[in-house]
Amino acid sequence: MEAINFTAKTQKLELNIVPIPKVTKPNQVLVKVAYSGICGTDLHVIQGEFPCNPDKTFTLGHEFSGTVVEVGPEVNIFKKGDRVSVDPNDGCKSCNFCHSGNPHYCLIGGINNTIGIYRNGGWAEYVLAPLVQVHKIPDSITLEQGKCKIVKRFNKPKITWLFKFKYRYRHLGHILELSIHSPLA
Ligand SMILES: [Zn+2]
Ligand SMILES: [Zn+2]
Repeated sequence: MEAINFTAKTQKLELNIVPIPKVTKPNQVLVKVAYSGICGTDLHVIQGEFPCNPDKTFTLGHEFSGTVVEVGPEVNIFKKGDRVSVDPNDGCKSCNFCHSGNPHYCLIGGINNTIGIYRNGGWAEYVLAPLVQVHKIPDSITLEQGKCKIVKRFNKPKITWLFKFKYRYRHLGHILELSIHSPLA
């Protein structure tokens, strides 16, 4: 599959062909990405202004929706074809941050666990996500709408803005142009 990967050490963003991830744990869900947003945080990550996985090349994208293609044996609430949105954050569920609804500040989970900032994210055709971070999208919401989340931070709803992102780069002699209307969270 194609994946847009980032390497922090070299600040390199590139389109790679990588294997489709496999379900290897009982509680994993494999999601085929339909829409993936570009967050303001992604731009800061690319510019080296926001902490991300320092040790390995990973796939960006932490605001995405898609359909379930495979589940682990312990997953009984999703089936193939379900439309889902993935929450990139998870925490220990025991600390004060987790109990106050701010798992992104959790010292055990938090930023060092976030999908698309630390682990492989949604700027790819498929993403592997833990069951607890996958949420069904109701029929009244489209997959396109499902990628945008109004995130609550500091107990105030944070507004997302629509903006156009254009990025060009060369890969194997081709010029890839990303031109996406995306929520800027
Ligand atoms: Zn974001
Ligand atoms: Zn925690």
